[in-house]
Amino acid sequence: MKPIKFTTKVINNEYIAKETREIKFEIITKNEIIFSEGQFFNLIVEDKIMRAYSIASSSSKLPKFSLCVKIIKGGKGSGYIDSMKKGDEVLFMGPFGHFSKKSDKKIVMIATGTGIAPMKAICERLTEEEIKNNITLIFGVQNTEYASYNNYFINLEKKFSKFSYKLFVSRFEKEYKGNVGRVTKWIEEQSLENLKDTEFLLCGNPAMIKESKELLQNKGITKNNIIIEAY
Ligand SMILES: Cc1cc2nc3c(=O)[nH]c(=O)nc-3n(C[C@H](O)[C@H](O)[C@H](O)COP(=O)(O)OP(=O)(O)OC[C@H]3O[C@@H](n4cnc5c(N)ncnc54)[C@H](O)[C@@H]3O)c2cc1C
Repeated sequence: MKPIKFTTKVINNEYIAKETREIKFEIITKNEIIFSEGQFFNLIVEDKIMRAYSIASSSSKLPKFSLCVKIIKGGKGSGYIDSMKKGDEVLFMGPFGHFSKKSDKKIVMIATGTGIAPMKAICERLTEEEIKNNITLIFGVQNTEYASYNNYFINLEKKFSKFSYKLFVSRFEKEYKGNVGRVTKWIEEQSLENLKDTEFLLCGNPAMIKESKELLQNKGITKNNIIIEAY
C-alpha cells in the first residue's frame, strides 16, 4: 500500500534483551494500514526527524504491531522509544521497504542484533500457515543476553519440523553450550548442496551483510537469491 501517516497508542514497552526494547502499539487512525512482513515504518520523532524501524510482528496482529529496538545512549529515535509509556500517542509513516521473501523456495534467514525484527515478523507469518519449505534462522549476537526472542524461536523449532533455529554467540560465555562464533561461520561450513535452491534473507549490521553476501556469492549463490536490509 501507499505509505501514509498514522497515529498509534503505546500498549506496552519493555526490555526483552540487553539494551533492547519491544514496544507494542495499537493503530488508532481510522485508515486501514496493511503491510508485508519484512517492511518497516518510519517513526516520526519530531518535525523533520524520522527513524526507520522494521515491524517485528505479523500483519495478522493488526491493528496492533510491535517493534524491537536497540536503545542507544543519546539516540534520538531509540531515546524517544525508551521514554514511551503506555497510552502515549505516537506518529508513524509507512509502510516502506521491499525486504521480504520473493518465492516459495526454502529460506535461510541470517540476522544480527535487532536485525532479528523483520525475521520475527516473517517467521510469525510463515508459522501461522502450513510451512511449505524448510526455514533456517541463523541469529548472531555478542552474548546470550542480547538474544531477543530466543525462547520464541526455540519453541517454534520444537513445534515445526521444517523450522530450524541456530543462535551464534560471538563472545565466549562460560555457561553457554551452543554455537560460538559469527554467523559467517555457519555459511563457511555449508556445502553447496545445502545452499542451493534457497532464498537468503540477510538483516543486520552492514559489515555482516557485506561479508555474508560475499561468502554466499563465492559459493555460487546468485545475487537475485540474496535479499538484504542493512541498519
Ligand atoms: C530499513 C531500516 C530498518 C531499521 N529497523 C530497525 C529495527 O527494527 N530496530 C532497531 O533497533 N533499529 C533499526 N534501524 C535503525 C534505526 O533506524 C536507527 O538508525 C537507530 O535506532 C539509531 O537511531 P537513533 O535516532 O536512536 O540514534 P541517532 O540519534 O541517529 O544516533 C546517535 C548516536 O548513536 C550512533 N549509532 C547509530 N546507530 C547505532 C548502532 N546501531 N549502534 C551503536 N551506535 C549507533 C550514531 O552514530 C550517533 O553517534 C533500522 C534502519 C533502517 C534503515
